[in-house]
Amino acid sequence: MSALYGTYARSDLAFERGEGMRLYDQHGRDYLDFHSGVAVNALGHGDPHLVGALKAAADKVWHTANTFTIPEQERLGQRLVEATFADSVFFTNSGAEALECAIKTARHYFWAKGQADRYEVIAFSGSFHGRTLATIAAGGNPDYLEGFGPVTPGFKHAKPGDLASVEALISPQTCAILIEPVQGEGGVTAMSNEFMQGLRDLCDKHDMLLILDEVQCGFGRTGRFFAYEWSGITPDIVAVAKAIGGGFPLGACLSKGDVAASMVPGTHGSTYGGNPLATAIGNAVLDRILAPGFLDQVNAMGQKLTWHLQQLAQKYPDHVLELRGKGLLSGIKIGTPVRDMVTRLRDDHGLLTISAGDNVLRLLPPLIVTEADIEEAMAKIGAAFDAIDAEAANPAAAS
Ligand SMILES: *Cc1c(COP(=O)(O)O)cnc(C)c1O
Repeated sequence: MSALYGTYARSDLAFERGEGMRLYDQHGRDYLDFHSGVAVNALGHGDPHLVGALKAAADKVWHTANTFTIPEQERLGQRLVEATFADSVFFTNSGAEALECAIKTARHYFWAKGQADRYEVIAFSGSFHGRTLATIAAGGNPDYLEGFGPVTPGFKHAKPGDLASVEALISPQTCAILIEPVQGEGGVTAMSNEFMQGLRDLCDKHDMLLILDEVQCGFGRTGRFFAYEWSGITPDIVAVAKAIGGGFPLGACLSKGDVAASMVPGTHGSTYGGNPLATAIGNAVLDRILAPGFLDQVNAMGQKLTWHLQQLAQKYPDHVLELRGKGLLSGIKIGTPVRDMVTRLRDDHGLLTISAGDNVLRLLPPLIVTEADIEEAMAKIGAAFDAIDAEAANPAAAS
């Protein structure tokens, strides 16, 4: 009996070692990783540059409070500002905290302008923004809200892709629109460029802020540094986490300068957020992701993955109901229960994947994935479909 909370349906599998795209379990068996610890291990496992940065940081000051200057944090913040729309960065330890900072920044911006009534955020059905009390309200998933008391007020939900449904929710209380450019956990739904541009226009028209949750789709995953770049829009606030630390807990809230201007001493804080250890590693991750050619290669592999998935869909039309996502945040809506498929791929074929809402098999390989890895993963998924068909044809032989 485990001493831990039973909040996860855990497998007995424990990994001992990782190298690049592969993980090795306690019995020495290897797995091809198309999961990346939920889009976190962007550089795979055991990246020498990250390991070196962690070891070097271990010999220096691990932690100081944010009331002192943290040079590695200043440097990481400056580099993120130079690479994005943002002028100002707040570091956190997780995605949910990055979203909390984003929501607080938006509300406080209007409060400081004397518009304290503008606190409402229009979010979307099928979204996921984290597990704090405010972010489960923002996500709006009833399964995650049930049993946790009154829902934190201030969130309404429109339909992804449906601008009219957004417009219908705008009121004098609305301060912001919050969206994942590619929904991850909810079902791997990519927003169109037109829809993102439509949201930007609505925000401009009604003096609202556009907050993007790029915790999963950002930091290179779609083949650009941030997914919003595909649509050519400029957001006001972007929440980042997962890949930003390559496996070390780190998140960030990026903002335009005027939007963040009211966040003065006393308005927000985090004990650990952006400490020397975390931001030393964040800088090392950025060294790799912003290295010339890296994102071009990710984009190329995203296109390869899409192409190979289309081949798979043609070969297995009864299993592949729909292809979703963008770049290396891809999903297959399948015809059999997705959780069984994830288990089957892992146990019988040595491929790690993850489920998403709407019975979607989510593929999140590290950004260092090669076409050979993609072909190997496709062969494993095809073999799993074949096995399902064989079992259906001969139920007595199964199990
Ligand atoms: C994972 C995720 C979060 C929450 O991040 P945590 O680090 O688990 O708090 C928020 N938004 C999106 C889109 C995510 O994928």
